[in-house]
Amino acid sequence: MSKKKYDYDLFVIGTGPGGEGAAMQCAKHGMSVAVAETYREIGGGCTHWGTIPSKALRYAITSTMTALKNPALREMGITTTPSLEQLKRGTQAIIGRQVTMRQSFYDRNNVPIYRGHARFVDEHSVSIDGDEPITAETLVIATGSRPYRPAGVDFDHARIFDSDTILDLDQKPISMCIYGAGVIGVEYASMFRNLGIKVNLINTRSKLLEFLDDEIIDAISYHLRDQGVIIRHNEMMESITGEDDGVVLQLKSGKRVKTDILLWANGRSGNTDDLGLQNLEVVANNRGQIQVDEHFQTVVPNIYAVGDVIGVPSLASAAYTQGRAAGMHILGQADGNLRLHDIPTGIYTSPEISSVGKTERELTEACVPYEVGQAQFKSLARAQITGQTVGMLKILFHRETLEILGVHCFGANASEIVHIGQAIMVQPGAQNTLTYFVETTFNYPTMAEAYRVAALNGINRLF
Ligand SMILES: Cc1cc2nc3c(=O)[nH]c(=O)nc-3n(C[C@H](O)[C@H](O)[C@H](O)COP(=O)(O)OP(=O)(O)OC[C@H]3O[C@@H](n4cnc5c(N)ncnc54)[C@H](O)[C@@H]3O)c2cc1C
Repeated sequence: MSKKKYDYDLFVIGTGPGGEGAAMQCAKHGMSVAVAETYREIGGGCTHWGTIPSKALRYAITSTMTALKNPALREMGITTTPSLEQLKRGTQAIIGRQVTMRQSFYDRNNVPIYRGHARFVDEHSVSIDGDEPITAETLVIATGSRPYRPAGVDFDHARIFDSDTILDLDQKPISMCIYGAGVIGVEYASMFRNLGIKVNLINTRSKLLEFLDDEIIDAISYHLRDQGVIIRHNEMMESITGEDDGVVLQLKSGKRVKTDILLWANGRSGNTDDLGLQNLEVVANNRGQIQVDEHFQTVVPNIYAVGDVIGVPSLASAAYTQGRAAGMHILGQADGNLRLHDIPTGIYTSPEISSVGKTERELTEACVPYEVGQAQFKSLARAQITGQTVGMLKILFHRETLEILGVHCFGANASEIVHIGQAIMVQPGAQNTLTYFVETTFNYPTMAEAYRVAALNGINRLF
């Protein structure tokens, strides 16, 4: 019998959603696959210090605070102030369940996990913690990202955090400053404000979350301010100084903000600096990100990269799809059906935000004759029953063909609601039509009914 040229057909570095997507796609189609993971458990930043813990904490905060604000409980004399420690308690159990479930995927598909830090030796081999190299025909880099840390900020100070360390916070501060108003900064601003903390949100740009539809930006800005978040736009950091009793943020505009703690949430860097890239032709940019083509191939064709390490959109949802797409390309399968350009946005603020497709700004700039249909949550029976009346669904559609061009939503469960519109929007040709929502019977009372209300509202504008 002839000896195989490589130890594995595929070797994946990193077990976050990107790595898992690629590893499972290839393992399920008969390839011999192995993965490497530096962290003590699999699942990636997504499971251990990003998506899962932040969303679990958010759920604990919103459900507890909503219950505590219930007038009936107050009348019964039930008042309490939960500690951060109590609110975080459930998170570890959820992480544990995620790890167990994901570990079973690797076990069932006979994918060995090499524990340790992988570095490239050459384009077909990696060494784990300096051990004897492991070889593979194809490799996928799915090493994720970490918060960008500027020089001059003391991240070892007990009061200065970034998005990877903020969940270690054990005492609830009275005030905090969040520097950076991207998705992570805005989500944490909303979450900590719900907990009663005085939040200052410092935005380096002129608007919050500029990639969203303008009306949604206005809505989230209004609601954050209404909840008591102080937002300052167009500000740049001059210095951050940790003191015994707080952190002083000196801004270039001359303003000074002093709060109990500071959360740095301004940008992320790809995890490539200790990956042995100097042994390959692959070069990372100044943010540690690797450039790939539409098949997620780097300049070295047998080396792919997926997920946060290739930059935007830096979402767990996208990383998983990219991993699968890379896997399909490696397998020689068609990958055009993965709709890689149809990635929705889900932002877990209060109210929640979600959107897919074009914004009004983009359609106006492209001179597309579109119309808008809107449904206010306050006019839906379901929202009135649940008391979650803040929010709106907005459908953008072509005024001549009725093709759906964008769906934008904010309010409770927006990240679920948006997928109904997305499912119609991706239908081929004339099947992508607003009339679907006018001609379809929706359960009543539901939030999905917002689609019929919005579609009728839009159609009524046509002449
Ligand atoms: C606070 C926060 C909230 C978020 N919320 C959401 C959300 O609600 N929805 C959403 O879709 N996304 C969210 N994200 C983004 C999401 O977590 C990331 O996009 C996702 O984790 C990226 O997946 P990945 O596979 O590229 O990398 P990761 O999940 O980071 O996994 C990379 C893995 O590679 C390992 N690794 C790195 N280098 C090596 C090496 N040399 N050898 C071996 N192993 C290595 C790491 O230890 C890690 O386990 C959030 C992120 C943060 C920080």
